[in-house]
Amino acid sequence: MLALDIQHVRMNQHAVDKAQALQCLVNILVEDQLVTPEYLDGLKAREQQSATYLGQGIAIPHGTPQSRQYILQTGVRLAHFPEGVVWDGENKIYLAVVIAAKSDEHLQVLQILTKALINDVSDRVKNATSAEQIIELLQAQPLSLALHENLIETQVPAIDIDDLFWHAAQRLKQQKAVEAGFITALDTKQMIHLGEGTWSITANQHVLNPAVSIVKPETALEYHGEVLNTLLCVASNDQLDMPQFNRLMDILFDPEQLEKLTHENDSHEIAQIIGADIIPDWPSLHVTLANSHGLHARPATQLVNVTKQFTGDIQVSVDDGQFISAKSLTKLLSLGCKRGQVLTFIAEPDTDAVNGLNDVIQAVKNGLGEDVEPIEENSVQAVEKVEVLRFDESTEDQTSGIPASSGLAFGPAHVIKPRQFNYERQSKNIKAETEKLEQAIQQVQSNIKDFIAESKIEAIKQIFTAHLAMLDDPDLIQGVHQKLKQNLSAPAAWHEHIEAAATAQASLKDHLLAERAADLRDIGERVLAVLCNAPDIIEPKEPYILIMHDVGPSDVARLDKERVAGILTAVGGASAHSAIVARALGIPAIVGAGAGVLNIESNATVLINGDNGDFVISPEASLIEHAIAERERQRQIRIEAEKHCQEPAMTLDGHQVEIAANIGKVNAGQKAVKDGAEAIGLLRTELVFMAHNSAPDEATQEAEYRVILDDLAGRPLVVRTLDVGGDKPLPYVPIPEEENPFLGIRGIRLTLRKPDLLRKQLIALLKASDNRPLRIMFPMIGRVEEWRDAKVILDELRAEYPCDNLEVGIMIEVPSAALLSPILAQEVDFFSIGTNDLTQYTMAIDRGHPVLSAEADGLHPSVLLLIDQTVRAAHKHGKWVGICGELAADPKAVPVLMGLGVDELSMSSTSIPLVKAQIRQLNFAECQQIAQKALLCDSATAVRELGE
Ligand code: PEP
Ligand code: MG
Repeated sequence: MLALDIQHVRMNQHAVDKAQALQCLVNILVEDQLVTPEYLDGLKAREQQSATYLGQGIAIPHGTPQSRQYILQTGVRLAHFPEGVVWDGENKIYLAVVIAAKSDEHLQVLQILTKALINDVSDRVKNATSAEQIIELLQAQPLSLALHENLIETQVPAIDIDDLFWHAAQRLKQQKAVEAGFITALDTKQMIHLGEGTWSITANQHVLNPAVSIVKPETALEYHGEVLNTLLCVASNDQLDMPQFNRLMDILFDPEQLEKLTHENDSHEIAQIIGADIIPDWPSLHVTLANSHGLHARPATQLVNVTKQFTGDIQVSVDDGQFISAKSLTKLLSLGCKRGQVLTFIAEPDTDAVNGLNDVIQAVKNGLGEDVEPIEENSVQAVEKVEVLRFDESTEDQTSGIPASSGLAFGPAHVIKPRQFNYERQSKNIKAETEKLEQAIQQVQSNIKDFIAESKIEAIKQIFTAHLAMLDDPDLIQGVHQKLKQNLSAPAAWHEHIEAAATAQASLKDHLLAERAADLRDIGERVLAVLCNAPDIIEPKEPYILIMHDVGPSDVARLDKERVAGILTAVGGASAHSAIVARALGIPAIVGAGAGVLNIESNATVLINGDNGDFVISPEASLIEHAIAERERQRQIRIEAEKHCQEPAMTLDGHQVEIAANIGKVNAGQKAVKDGAEAIGLLRTELVFMAHNSAPDEATQEAEYRVILDDLAGRPLVVRTLDVGGDKPLPYVPIPEEENPFLGIRGIRLTLRKPDLLRKQLIALLKASDNRPLRIMFPMIGRVEEWRDAKVILDELRAEYPCDNLEVGIMIEVPSAALLSPILAQEVDFFSIGTNDLTQYTMAIDRGHPVLSAEADGLHPSVLLLIDQTVRAAHKHGKWVGICGELAADPKAVPVLMGLGVDELSMSSTSIPLVKAQIRQLNFAECQQIAQKALLCDSATAVRELGE
């Protein structure tokens, strides 16, 4: 969220004209590393389209959409020109609020400014002498309490108090009075019975603007032995206009009014009883805004010009929000209306405005002076639906996500999210502030040292040792001392300097270095927490449920199975690499559970079920007991399976498949063998590369591949050449930014463009093999030519580095390769089907998509038909087929894949004992029947139901 901040104000700027002023503004943005100097052209171009004069001595210069490429980071800066600068040929400005926004965040700034400009502030803008005055006058908002008809809902289908809270919060959220998280702040302990079945509840967290919603259930509820037929939900904060609130309370304490309220079921009537704003019963028309950047200053000015032609009043609301005058520029801007939102215009009856409504609607449809792509009525529906969907994603009420790694886990929540700290910015006592800072740093250093001493995991020790070194960095400390000398308080100096250093670090081209910004912010927050006496978010001592936005493959170093009982993420899909990491570690996980999970209270007990994706916050003791019993049952099954994990996976009627492991680390081979792997079916070499800070040379690679082959002691090793791209970027193999990385330069498409990289890897493999069974395969083959080009390179190298025990194959993960498998099967030695990508590309669903990825089920008949064709083609030419996608370990998929005739199943080694045990219970002839039925099904759900 963009905000206006004192430290972003530059007083005493001077410019003789607008051109000089624009240059001065760009200099400020460049200095603060928000833009590159080229952004100036964007500012100028925008001013040429129309001046960005807002009114009251303020302008809001910003670049054109084309100039967004020069923005490094979204931000706002304010420059005060005490002598004024003529801006639009007649009006002088004294304050420029210059915006660098990568998308439409500037609408937020407009909303803030326009709220302030409802008051007349022109003199204060002109005469301001300090940054504090500027921010104060811009943020001065009229005290408020939204109380209007749109906040009232009757006949609510609520069966209990939770349902009713949800509806009350929904109303407030729709009117933008509260944000996500508000509902969790509604504490039943705060319920007050006003009498006559009317109750009120107040909360003050996640409140954007004070407001009251009123909801009435269809049928009265019983609450604590009393009737509940009306609930007032008060969203309160320090902006709350108390006199207005007290007036509302006076009405409610009047028994006569209260009785009326209790019995009334019409929102319009209720609004009148409590003195709320009423939606005028005026003629109305709706239109959907199509302007791609929303109702920003230029189109809003046009709209004012149109509405002002009529003498009668014209008002407008967005998405059923409050009505405001459509003749006031500042009020229009305060709506923050975006493309796709519906504007409702109403006109004062018996005036020329009624006929004028058609002109207004037409002007909006025509784009208000901008070229617009019209929005079809149907697509309006779509937009609305998507918005509802988004809301659902982040609702606090969501109790399930996508099952990503099986098992039950519970423990205290450890929520990783940005925290807010409160502190005074200025302090005159430099000595005291310096001491405070030194003590805080020492305390954090000592905490980190304890942590390192206690940790048994090398990767974690390394991370925290690096943090210690950062806290010792003299440059960093000196930078903070500079700020202290400018009379900043210790927390302000520390935070501002760390943030600037982290921002600079994040903008570095070298990705590995850029990633260190997260570590800087990490230590920054720890010290700040000590300085602000904010309780440190201490990792719970017992194994916890780690809750975060997403877990990336690089977070793996931080995940210690001893400490992390389970993982719950807001986004992600079951075959995203984050989920694969969780499975490999054997940690139960649910991904894509919506942003609401980040609002779970730290330390609240959370129970997750990685098998079905359900989670429960603060579960009843009985549920935990049940989970413990179930977990014990699963543990026993696992112990039994592990006892037999070295035995072959043979069905009851004597059909055997090879069971192999997927690995991504050099030293994972041993564990795989111990878990019962008969081969490594997929070595993801890009993950091996990721463990290095720069591309490993040939010798390093050879040594690493040797380790794996040694550990396998004669078992086959299927190595996939580098599969970089998609969601697996490799910092030192840069790929130009792509709109659609999964459809871009990835896998073989990349290595064929960097043949040296491929050659080096192939040589290292050939040299490491020593005639041990090596199988090399190429990822992301989509065209026969790609396979042939790669094969030519390998054949050339084989002439130089002979290797007798080698098979060469390809991954089948692009539908075109599956469809051409009859041709490819004649040339390759084997196929390995990557169902993660094959499903993604067949169903056109991003494998990590937070909402859709659950629908991208590898058991969809369309995917099975491609697998079937591939297996048939391979077998016809005497070649073998493996499955190395996540489907290989899915208990519902195992019989189907076996029945389709695959020869090998390769999976995370943790799954091997259970899958082997399952196969020993199966009958191959039955599997074949199930597979044939599956090919005729119409959905993945139908396939999943076959075995039941
Ligand atoms: C696959 O796509 O199924 C696969 C095994 O490869 P990755 O998951 O590494 O993309
Ligand atoms: Mg793949």
